Amino acid sequence: MEQETISKNFIEQMIDKDLEEGVYDAVCTRFPPEPNGYLHIGHAKSILLNYGIAKKYKGKFNMRFDDTNPTKEKVEFVESIKEDIQWLGADWEDRLYFASNYFEKMYEAAVTLIKKGKAYVCDLTAEEIRAYRGTLTEPGKESPYRNRSVEENLQLFKDMREGKVADGAKVLRAKIDMASSNMNMRDPVIYRVAHMHHHNTGDEWCIYPMYDFAHPLEDAFEGVTHSICTLEFEDHRPLYDWVVREVEFEHPPRQIEFAKLYLTNVVTGKRYIKKLVEDGIVDGWDDPRLVSIAALRRRGFTPESIQRFVDLCGVSKAQSSADYAMLEYCLREDLKLKRKRMMAVLDPIKLIIDNYPEGQTEELEVANNLENEELGSRTVTFGRELYIEREDFMEEPPKKYFRLFPGNEVRLMQAYFVKCESFVKDENGVVTEVHCTYDPETKCGSGFTGRKVKGTIHWVAAQDAVQAQVRLYENIIDEEKGVYNEDGTLNLNPNSLTVKQAYLEPALAQAKPFESFQFVRNGYYCVDVKDSREKEPVFNRIVSLKSSFKLPKA
Ligand code: ATP
Ligand code: MG
Repeated sequence: MEQETISKNFIEQMIDKDLEEGVYDAVCTRFPPEPNGYLHIGHAKSILLNYGIAKKYKGKFNMRFDDTNPTKEKVEFVESIKEDIQWLGADWEDRLYFASNYFEKMYEAAVTLIKKGKAYVCDLTAEEIRAYRGTLTEPGKESPYRNRSVEENLQLFKDMREGKVADGAKVLRAKIDMASSNMNMRDPVIYRVAHMHHHNTGDEWCIYPMYDFAHPLEDAFEGVTHSICTLEFEDHRPLYDWVVREVEFEHPPRQIEFAKLYLTNVVTGKRYIKKLVEDGIVDGWDDPRLVSIAALRRRGFTPESIQRFVDLCGVSKAQSSADYAMLEYCLREDLKLKRKRMMAVLDPIKLIIDNYPEGQTEELEVANNLENEELGSRTVTFGRELYIEREDFMEEPPKKYFRLFPGNEVRLMQAYFVKCESFVKDENGVVTEVHCTYDPETKCGSGFTGRKVKGTIHWVAAQDAVQAQVRLYENIIDEEKGVYNEDGTLNLNPNSLTVKQAYLEPALAQAKPFESFQFVRNGYYCVDVKDSREKEPVFNRIVSLKSSFKLPKA
């Protein structure tokens, strides 16, 4: 019991208290993105947090597009956001909402405020409003329009709605306190005139509510209880509370703030990603080097690994930054038992077994994952000519190199011992062939108990290997130098993408987009959804196998 209390985050503790005190009798959360870009790993945290809380308290999780600003929004983003959230596994059931569908109710709420003498139409220009606002150390000055009568305000607000007022000529403001120490409470603008086309409501409206007014209303209309947002809204909470109180909701929602998730040395800002896309440095918003949810999905991350990662990051009020290595750790842990382990040679060199009869082949039965029998087995062909990794042979090995070098014997994974007898170089001194002899007594699984070897290397048979493009990724940022240059541009890593022509086991030619595998000794790889063709998969490296990352102590 005590254990359970300790493991609860501060938001859950607040919810417990609310339920205990009867402030609410059920929990409803929401995820409210603005459809003005792609979602990224930070949003994933918010989505999984809101959805997780709803599930934990057997409550509801709403999906709501916060589409009150017609300038920046696009239908394209609505679709991508829905897809990302579904992929993450957050289920809004039948509760998909658009803030723009509440415009009429928001208008009515504004009228309510006017009638209570809590809102007024103001003719000051944007610049004047700013000047009248005062500063952190000086109180603001009241607008000369502040004391218009209710009747006049109602009429003018109606005029605004009916298109009789030019953009910027009048706004509706909440009448709160021009001397408040909180700048957000100094008669904030709550409606503006903007003759603009909206992606959902078309030309029906020429006035649009401001975020600080619209957001609490949206939450309240939907019966949201806990409106979880990030820290930058902390100073807006008094205004949030003012709106739901003055509009007189019976069960007003409560806003709770937590710290945003940041990843060290990783670009998440929309502005920067947009520029990388526009400059052609990355291949779209879903380029596997980015951390948009679409990019992580394309790269081969799983929803489970992202869930684990955000769980490990925890929820707090303190700003901090997580390591990308922790995300990779979560992914490796998730894929370890789930994925088949196949052989692929990324940087091939020929290995020829001189004493293996020409034209002979063998079918070897190979387990798909030694740690998980359920993944079954497959057969691979063995033959006289194979490909091995170039780095698995050295003419002059350093100490502790246990792989192939003249005179040394290694195990070919799942097959035989081979001993290096000689090698061939081209005119540039590059090794082109490694010649070996094999010992037929050493077949894997034959019960051979003779001598031991220290190295095991993987291979694919030359006769049926398939060639495929394999892409290796590094951080798009040069981590040594930090994220930004002095002029504010990004410090790009010139080696963030390496393209290899690899040889794979033939079974991998059948792999479908989003399917992923472990390539033994090389890492985890996923079939690219954009660039693969039927029977010609292109693979993206999701993550390498090893890392020095250690889980932080709890
Ligand atoms: P960005 O600053 O990256 O453009 P945003 O905050 O403008 O993101 P919204 O669509 O307004 O994006 O955000 C939707 C929700 O996601 C909000 O509740 C916001 O607080 C939350 N959110 C945004 N970024 C992060 C982050 N890095 N970590 C956690 N939650 C986030
Ligand atoms: Mg925003």
